[in-house]
Amino acid sequence: MPLSPLLPADVLAANFADLKPPLRPQEALVEAHRCLYCFDAPCIMACPTGIDIPAFIKKIASGHPAGAAKTILEANILGASCARVCPTSVLCEGACVLADRDEQPIMIGRLQRHATDYVEQRGLRVLPPPPAKKSGKKIAVIGAGPAGLGCAAELARLGHSVTVFEKQKQAGGLNTYGIAYYKMKPQVSLAEVELVRSLGVEIRTGLAVGKDIAVAALEQDFDAIFIGVGLGAATRLRIPGENLPEVIDALDFIWQIHTRPLERIPIGSRVAVIGCGNTAIDAVTQAKRLGAHRSFIVYRRDEHDMPAYPFEYEHAKHDGAQFFFKAAPVEIIATDGHVTGLRLALAQMVGGKVEPIPGTEWIEPCDLVLKAVGQEKQSKLLRELFPSLTIDARGVILHDPLTGRTNVPHFFTGGDCGNGGREVVNAVGEGKKAAHGIHAFLTGAKTTPPVQPSRLGAKQGAAGSGLMAPIRAHELEAALKL
Ligand SMILES: Cc1cc2nc3c(=O)[nH]c(=O)nc-3n(C[C@H](O)[C@H](O)[C@H](O)COP(=O)(O)OP(=O)(O)OC[C@H]3O[C@@H](n4cnc5c(N)ncnc54)[C@H](O)[C@@H]3O)c2cc1C
Repeated sequence: MPLSPLLPADVLAANFADLKPPLRPQEALVEAHRCLYCFDAPCIMACPTGIDIPAFIKKIASGHPAGAAKTILEANILGASCARVCPTSVLCEGACVLADRDEQPIMIGRLQRHATDYVEQRGLRVLPPPPAKKSGKKIAVIGAGPAGLGCAAELARLGHSVTVFEKQKQAGGLNTYGIAYYKMKPQVSLAEVELVRSLGVEIRTGLAVGKDIAVAALEQDFDAIFIGVGLGAATRLRIPGENLPEVIDALDFIWQIHTRPLERIPIGSRVAVIGCGNTAIDAVTQAKRLGAHRSFIVYRRDEHDMPAYPFEYEHAKHDGAQFFFKAAPVEIIATDGHVTGLRLALAQMVGGKVEPIPGTEWIEPCDLVLKAVGQEKQSKLLRELFPSLTIDARGVILHDPLTGRTNVPHFFTGGDCGNGGREVVNAVGEGKKAAHGIHAFLTGAKTTPPVQPSRLGAKQGAAGSGLMAPIRAHELEAALKL
């Protein structure tokens, strides 16, 4: 059966309304007054962009939301999107001291949204204009995702001339095309792109570096280059039936939600999602909200192993998504060339690998399969485009996490292509650090890391949550030949 839209436009609009709607002004005031304005606030330490959270909340409490927005945007130019998409319960709100007292943590994300919405809706310009006197240095930024935009904005504020090259028609990266639609609409991301432009950054879209413009040409024209190209397409499943028309990369499915009217998106009535990270959760939940009668996740490991955040898992269950744990996809089955089912088998660990148990197979009927077993690293492309860069065994660009510096002095990096895939706020923070690294490289200025190391990030890495551990000093030294 070819896929077709399932729900009328008004129902879809309600299903995709903001998960965390804006606070009313009075609610924001009351919430801001709950903040203890801690000395040495742990919420700041937990924010990879180092926003002075107690300061902006104090400004809301004293009736100055525009001042609050200035505090936020000076630290994090994508403060409006981070207010919506950050996993706050494991970052700033997770660190809120009220949680230790068995009280509700401050709603930092929603207060941040309150302040940034306030200035956006009124067209207020709260950031000071970049220095009129330019440094004379030119920097190319490859990729207009959160990392590239974070880097470009900071470089502009430091007085440099910045040009961003983006292969897509619209800038913003996954913030524009990939975030679950009920968390954030692309318009928020596009408004942030305009904010970066307003700082004097040139953003050239529809230009793929390596295809439309050579890296060598950029090296000729610019004094330094920031690489923020993110990750690649979905990892392949490598099972029979993968090439059937109704087997889609979960990212492409989410992309459609961002680029087409919701009522024109074809959806299966039974949707299988393979994988159990946050992308899989976004896919299974959005399939349900588009009208799928049944949407389910298939994951080869145990519930406790899944990379998705617990709150995302709870959210998907709340939306009616189902989960098959310890189930391995074996084959995608078709009738007359269209997907009709997914053959599964119980899975077990064999010598450190998850393998299907022979004789335990069964078929789950479905008409759409979404692949969400991770994004490929762009290591092949990176090696082709930048043959002199060191790409490590994980397929990411080896770099100094404090400055974004790679083994080639004029190349810097940050975001998913350097960290292997984390969150928007990490990408912005790394872009910002790299901007200071570039500034130091070009001017000889002393680098002081612009943001505190995220205490929680370190904790998560150690717990093996899938986040990268920091690069070891000896690895970096060897690669940078220090
Ligand atoms: C489905 C999904 C949902 C997510 N949900 C969340 C969430 O809810 N909250 C959260 O915090 N994080 C979320 N993330 C993670 C977050 O989106 C990323 O960590 C973040 O976008 C990384 O930013 P980046 O700039 O490194 O990469 P990207 O956002 O991928 O941006 C890279 C940019 O580089 C461009 N580019 C690539 N190659 C070239 C080239 N050769 N020339 C020019 N341009 C190029 C790309 O087109 C893209 O615009 C999600 C990720 C996915 C996949």
